[in-house]
Amino acid sequence: AQDELARNDKLAVLGQVAGSVGHELRNPLGVMNNAVYFLQTVLSDADETTKEYLGIIKEEIAVSDRIVGDLLDSVRIKPPHPEAVGVGDLIGHVLRKCTIPENVTIVQEIPDGLPPLKADPLQIHQVLRNLVSNALDAMPDGGTLEFRAERAVPDAIMLKVRDTGVGMTSEQLGKLFQPLFTTKARGIGLGLVVVKNLTQANGGEIEVKSEAGKGTTFFITLPCAGPQVETAGEQEA
Ligand code: ADP
Ligand code: MG
Repeated sequence: AQDELARNDKLAVLGQVAGSVGHELRNPLGVMNNAVYFLQTVLSDADETTKEYLGIIKEEIAVSDRIVGDLLDSVRIKPPHPEAVGVGDLIGHVLRKCTIPENVTIVQEIPDGLPPLKADPLQIHQVLRNLVSNALDAMPDGGTLEFRAERAVPDAIMLKVRDTGVGMTSEQLGKLFQPLFTTKARGIGLGLVVVKNLTQANGGEIEVKSEAGKGTTFFITLPCAGPQVETAGEQEA
């Protein structure tokens, strides 16, 4: 038990360090991004090699920024501010913010009359953004990204996010929610940690089914906002 305590202390400190470092990296990355933007404008007549290098710098800044973003998201999870929010609105919002490649087909099936969720919309956006980003990574040659929602017992809604991507082996599935588990050269393995924490913070649960070579489905069950659960200010930690 003593060891466990020491370990938790270390993890808490590590989390704080990661948070501060991540935060401190945000500014220089922003400055670099502006500088590259400036150079690209000034050097618009430069030779192809120069332009290519500028493009590489810009891309690598974007990769770093994403990693720092995942890192920050994973260490600072705020208490949710739940409200009644429609599933279709949540998905629509996230899809408008994501760049969906042309070879990816979006399917969206939300039954009429589905009650709204009771969840923090910003946090559910973050959950969906992460799932979409992974699904797109899993379909480099295109495919179908499907969103479905249905009523679940007792007062819940199940959201299904399915892709027809590379899928996972059972070994990968077992490590899926472990911090820093990634199979990507440019991944950090914190996206699904954030997804799970935020889902649970909103009173929900997450499950996954996946088959290598076929695709992956994430099932997210969240409480729905029936009239009986409409008590203001109620929060689940
Ligand atoms: P990252 O995206 O930085 O690798 P994540 O926590 O988001 O970190 O995902 C961890 C790993 O889980 C990924 O590297 C990938 O191997 C696997 N994974 C997650 N989502 C999917 C998916 N939709 N299809 C296939 N593999 C996935
Ligand atoms: Mg990810």
